[in-house]
Amino acid sequence: MTRRILVLPGDGIGPEITAQATRVLEACQTLGLDAEIEQGLVGGSAYDAHGVPLPDETLDKARSADAILLGAVGGPKWDRIEDLSKRPEKGLLGLRKELGLFGNLRPAILYPQLAEASTLKPEVVSGLDIMIVRELTGGIYFGQPRGIEERDGQRVGFNTYVYSESEIERIGRVAFEMARKRNGKLCSVDKANVLEVTILWREVMDRLAAEYPDVELSHMYVDNAAMQLVRAPRQFDVVVTGNMFGDILSDAAAMLTGSIGMLPSASLNERGQGMYEPCHGSAPDIAGQNLANPLATILSVAMMLRYSLDEADLAARIEAAVGKVLDDGLRTADIASEGKRRVSTSEMGDAVLAALS
Ligand code: NAD
Repeated sequence: MTRRILVLPGDGIGPEITAQATRVLEACQTLGLDAEIEQGLVGGSAYDAHGVPLPDETLDKARSADAILLGAVGGPKWDRIEDLSKRPEKGLLGLRKELGLFGNLRPAILYPQLAEASTLKPEVVSGLDIMIVRELTGGIYFGQPRGIEERDGQRVGFNTYVYSESEIERIGRVAFEMARKRNGKLCSVDKANVLEVTILWREVMDRLAAEYPDVELSHMYVDNAAMQLVRAPRQFDVVVTGNMFGDILSDAAAMLTGSIGMLPSASLNERGQGMYEPCHGSAPDIAGQNLANPLATILSVAMMLRYSLDEADLAARIEAAVGKVLDDGLRTADIASEGKRRVSTSEMGDAVLAALS
């Protein structure tokens, strides 16, 4: 069956990095991937062309795609749009919402070749391979009521932290399945000593654990998890947590690896449809200069093949190709170090393609 892949380059370095990732997808077509690749506009580039960050045409294409590859959106050019609903970021949030992308997978992998890039000691982080599973469409970022209002003569700000059992269960299942495919270890992060919503979270995770006897479930309070992540990060394998804790912990985990230019991510819905994107933004400071690291986007293609297109072998080939170019000493500016060969965005793409074939 021919699969449909939608590529949304977006803004800033987005077009440069997705161009390299698209070459990798095309190479996969020659290696047996039966897929059609089409493009669409999102973010600032969509605003410039159509006056909105998520045109209907893009949304229609996204709905009918099996998987979406997104570059990045945003940049100073659009920061002064007064109508917040027209800002580039709303294109991304709109896609997440419309497609129901509730499960965010953020791996933090430290390639041994880049151990020096981390701010932590190489012996603490070398070989790090964590998968953070973050709930993406609920929790305190979306809970109602919310607002800032006048009470007793002063302004009060408030938000609501809310999760239903079914929301917890559905992200829990993603995490248990992930742990099952990896090393059978899952750590659920909550604040059950203080917050009722996470007492429920813990109860649901414990209930699910009975269905996954091959997975060893542990629980950790979020403050301890933040500490353990920088003290002894290799104790973690799969971590599951809510939207806000996941937002913070996944950024901390990302920085353990030293380069944001290396980190892919996936956001999945209940049908396994997914949006894949690098963790970094549109890097306007280096846009258009052929300097950006395309590897996070290329590794996002590998995640797409594994989690939405059921092509684990091709995914492993791409990951091996990335390992090979690092072994060969090729580095874009963000991961550059003494004695290694500095390459541009497109040269890095050339090298991955050569390693793939
Ligand atoms: P950023 O991730 O774009 O850049 C932070 C720093 O990392 C910059 O110095 C940049 O040059 C560098 N960098 C990022 N990706 C790189 C890559 N692939 N190769 C080499 N260096 C890289 O974050 P920011 O500067 O805070 O945000 C810039 C714009 O991106 C803003 O408009 C922001 O809203 C947007 N943004 C978008 C997303 C997204 O589309 N998912 C995520 C974060 C930020």
